[in-house]
Amino acid sequence: MRYCQAMAWAAAGRAMIAGLEKGILRWLVDVLAPPRCPLCRAELESADGLCAACWPKLHLIEEPSCPATGLPLAGEWAETVASLPATMKQRPWRTLRAAVFHDAAGRALVHGLKFHDDFAPARLMARLMARRVRDLVEEGMVVAPVPLHRLRLWWRRFNQSAVLARLLAEELALEHVPDLLLRTRYTTPQTRLSGRRRRANLNGAFAVNPRHGAWVRGRTVLLVDDVLTTGATAQACVRALQEAGAGDVHVVVFALAGEPRALHI
Ligand SMILES: [Zn+2]
Repeated sequence: MRYCQAMAWAAAGRAMIAGLEKGILRWLVDVLAPPRCPLCRAELESADGLCAACWPKLHLIEEPSCPATGLPLAGEWAETVASLPATMKQRPWRTLRAAVFHDAAGRALVHGLKFHDDFAPARLMARLMARRVRDLVEEGMVVAPVPLHRLRLWWRRFNQSAVLARLLAEELALEHVPDLLLRTRYTTPQTRLSGRRRRANLNGAFAVNPRHGAWVRGRTVLLVDDVLTTGATAQACVRALQEAGAGDVHVVVFALAGEPRALHI
């Protein structure tokens, strides 16, 4: 009996030491590397946000918004959207939603995630995206990222859209299928091309992963990307999903390039 008691005390002692170690470790991390605002590097109370001064710099997009272009339908954009040619309002996706405009602050968050492995703002970005698509969520909907080609994935080590898609799926309690789409062809980076050439560059560049071929039929998909510029990449992905027989496809991006004339897909 006494031996058992001693064992229990020893186990409790070990647990206490482990807890203390964890606490000390957390305290050390907080002291040595306190959470910082991803935009201005000011110290923050909690890890996944911006400082009070930086929140207004982020240009949030609110409803109502145009389902084709993602642009807000109220305020300064209303007239611009109304004057867009009909061809720009015909898109393969059911709805396009964006969390913020791709201005200086939006771009800084995207670049932090893409080029500096700075995952700290990723949860904030996913939360802002979740806020924009919560009303579209339906049973059986799946979340999938715009894929990177294997070579680019190897070079960059991670797919920023997949990071956002995983966190977004968590926020919305939906299934995340990171390999639903495959990039079947290596393509020139889109940023170096004009709108029409972007579309040609992406012809046949995406396909539904044969592993999910039967499963995706009739399913509603929420396609995730970090930025939408001309929409050519999202369009090519939506077409690939439609060819495989998917149901409605909604697109959600963190940042939307605010110049609608650039959207000449
Ligand atoms: Zn700040």
